[in-house]
Amino acid sequence: MRKTIIAGNWKMNHTGKETRETITALVQGLTGAEQADIVIAPVFPYLPMAVELTKGTAVHVAAQNMHWLDNGAYTGEVSPAMLKDIGVSHVIIGHSERREYNNETDETVNLKVKSALAHGLTPILCCGETLAQREGGIMQSWIEGQIENALKDIAAADITKVVIAYEPIWAIGTGKTATAAQAEEVCDIIRKKLAALYDDTAAQDVSILYGGSVKGKNAAELTACPDIDGGLVGGASLKAGDFLEIIHKAV
Ligand code: PGA
Repeated sequence: MRKTIIAGNWKMNHTGKETRETITALVQGLTGAEQADIVIAPVFPYLPMAVELTKGTAVHVAAQNMHWLDNGAYTGEVSPAMLKDIGVSHVIIGHSERREYNNETDETVNLKVKSALAHGLTPILCCGETLAQREGGIMQSWIEGQIENALKDIAAADITKVVIAYEPIWAIGTGKTATAAQAEEVCDIIRKKLAALYDDTAAQDVSILYGGSVKGKNAAELTACPDIDGGLVGGASLKAGDFLEIIHKAV
């Protein structure tokens, strides 16, 4: 039985004070009855604070990125061993913004997914097509290729530890949400690809999230789709009230 996961990607937002206030309000707003994993991804400097503030709650803490090696001469990088050391449990890998601005490729994404698994971190692996790819009729082959490349050499025993987030690039931060039918179509394509790469049982156990302008008003419809197991939320996860609304509509 796969899990419902509602994850907030805070991107490069929130000072320390704002991080503290948002997490405190989020934790206070949870009823304790939510049947979902709730994940927040603040910026690196505040991860230890986030781990501290969410201890003993239903909220898990994710990093927004990591290197795949444990240490070394890689200025500006943070390793999976360090994330594990401070109590982080999840890590977003291959977000389209990192692919676009930070030279993230299918190959580095694959190295990072493997490394996260080796360190006991849950990877939230992002994929998604541009509007031009969708309109050019290559959405399906693009998504299948991203999934296959990202999961290269990942064992069947590990695939259910991976969370996949489908985030159409044209829907991120644009206010233009994919319709529930569009989002479901691609999440179903991803699940069928997993079944082809592994087997149907494994594919049924992988949580697949939708991301791209998820809000309180569309969260219920999106997460009601059979192959959508939650959301990766950017803008609407920054305020505790908005994020709580999504969580409570989705679960
Ligand atoms: P958005 O971002 O909800 O602001 O569209 C989603 C994401 O980039 O993960």
